[in-house]
Amino acid sequence: MARGTETKAGSAGAPVDWVTRAADDALRHAGEGNLVTVASGASPSGPIHLGNLREFITPHFVAEELRSRGITVRHLHSWDDYDRFRKVPVGAPAEWAEHIGRPLSGVPDPWECHPSWAEHFKDPLRATLAELGVEMDEISQTEMYRAGAYREQILVAVSRREQIERVLSRHRTKAAPVAESEQEAAALADSVALEEDAGTGDLARFPFRPWCSQCGRDTTTATAYDEETHDLAYTCSVCDYEGSTNLATEDGGKLVWKADWPMRWAYEKVDFEPAGLDHMTPGSSYTVGQDLVSSVFGWRAPERVTYAFVGFAGVQKMSSSSGGVPTGADALRILEAPILRWLYVRRAPKQAFDIDFGPQVVRLYDEWDALGRKAADPAKRDAAVLAFERASSTSTVGTLPTPGVVVPFRVLSSVADVTAGSAEQISRIVGSVGHEHQGVDQLEPRLSRAMSWTAEYVPAEERTTVRENPDTERLAELSEREAAWVGLLLAGLETADDLDAVTALVYGVPKLALGMGLDDPPTEAVKAHQKQFFGLLYGLLVDAERGPRLPTLVMALGVDRLRYLLGG
Ligand SMILES: [Zn+2]
Repeated sequence: MARGTETKAGSAGAPVDWVTRAADDALRHAGEGNLVTVASGASPSGPIHLGNLREFITPHFVAEELRSRGITVRHLHSWDDYDRFRKVPVGAPAEWAEHIGRPLSGVPDPWECHPSWAEHFKDPLRATLAELGVEMDEISQTEMYRAGAYREQILVAVSRREQIERVLSRHRTKAAPVAESEQEAAALADSVALEEDAGTGDLARFPFRPWCSQCGRDTTTATAYDEETHDLAYTCSVCDYEGSTNLATEDGGKLVWKADWPMRWAYEKVDFEPAGLDHMTPGSSYTVGQDLVSSVFGWRAPERVTYAFVGFAGVQKMSSSSGGVPTGADALRILEAPILRWLYVRRAPKQAFDIDFGPQVVRLYDEWDALGRKAADPAKRDAAVLAFERASSTSTVGTLPTPGVVVPFRVLSSVADVTAGSAEQISRIVGSVGHEHQGVDQLEPRLSRAMSWTAEYVPAEERTTVRENPDTERLAELSEREAAWVGLLLAGLETADDLDAVTALVYGVPKLALGMGLDDPPTEAVKAHQKQFFGLLYGLLVDAERGPRLPTLVMALGVDRLRYLLGG
């Protein structure tokens, strides 16, 4: 489906990307002049991982594109906090199994910092999205259902339950379904439970599930339904309670997931919603929902993009609270917010990619800085620059935080490595190696990310450990030539006060020892001596055969510490 040429925004050779095209689709769906609703959803059943970020950030970029065209748009985010608590995840107390079958909003927070299980897992995602400049209109499915917002839709679904069942059975696959996401798992659990608990006749697969009014669980089976009064009788398989609820006047349950999702598309008039690849299988809730939304609920299936998996690399060392799978907050500890946004906007959603927390971070920052320089030239505006622009600012927040003085990440992390010191100390050294700036603030938010990355993701064997005390044994065994090198270095440092001078001195010491000038071209003998001299310095300073660039190391340590470690 090559639609790139039809775009309205792509006039006069302006660059076009997947966001432009998705926005065109959403606008066409809504119809000219109407509010455009783009949607995302999440089940707060556990930590929301970095891999799920595409769900929220994809409609965000589409909404931003539409806003930039002056179109009224809302990013609607549904919290599926009325979904059932399905299982106790690793790290939660085993006795929480007691709450299985209750709504996520009705399960207490085992860590006692939030009013419910659901709220405990919503908060960190909210914080991440705020830092990324993603603003959404949040709705809670618990609040919507409890307020009776969906009563009319529930009555429609129940009255057309045979039709719903025909659609479901048409999509039902013979192969054992595999749940690849939280929502698919919920749908699967629904359908298994429906089959197991099936009442008789047309109450089998009843699309509405009451919460047991005695124990609060959804382990209920419809036993009788009165089409005239809308009274629904049920029994609970856990506590054996026999109860009833009225669908027209009470709000004691919810639609099963496969009906719930398309009902919400219709209720909220959703024009665009992304979906993970796992939702694209035959019989998935998305596929079924596309059918149900028009045949039962009277709305057109939203435009969509399908997004692929986001993986991770270099996280072995990670001390995450989320069981080793990184969250957005983990990524924002090492990446500036625009860079994290850029990772998601520069590729079409259907392209899978990995976020690398290891050595590739340095290269990623270099690429980003290079793109920033290119973006400063209006003549070079292309699709890559468009992605840079989308990543860098939003219509509601403006430009997201970037450093006042851009210092390469590799320099910051290297200095952080050598000093293992405070931000102020790093700032001072970075200034002395040629990156002038006025204080720590001008290096943020990059500096603290370089410090976190160095401390948390650079393997111990690649870290630089400066000696605490001089290697007195080795110093006692210095040859005459080695002693001369050390003496010349310490003497020269009295006057060498910037990186260029220190660089010339470090490379020049073996020349001085041979009676040559600092600027003389190196002879073969000089080259051999340089190698020996550098090895000696690494051994005496960091107890290793190699390390960071010696001029940077020398600058970072300062004259006093060098004098102490070199026995001067
Ligand atoms: Zn019960």
